[in-house]
Amino acid sequence: MSVPVVDMDLCIGCGSCSEMCPEVFELRDDKAWVIGADKCSTCDCEAAADTCPVEAIKFE
Ligand code: SF4
Repeated sequence: MSVPVVDMDLCIGCGSCSEMCPEVFELRDDKAWVIGADKCSTCDCEAAADTCPVEAIKFE
């Protein structure tokens, strides 16, 4: 199963992903951290990745 990964060099800390998937992403120091890689079942991680303005969210 693929899990979301945030490219910290690209992330601009907009908060979109953590708003859509608060159990998966959390903003810390203006960067999104993956706090629940196995929690995509609680939201739509693909949609959250699609809203990322800098395409920083990949699935590995
Ligand atoms: S949506 Fe993208 S730019 Fe915004 S906080 Fe999440 S990873 Fe960072």
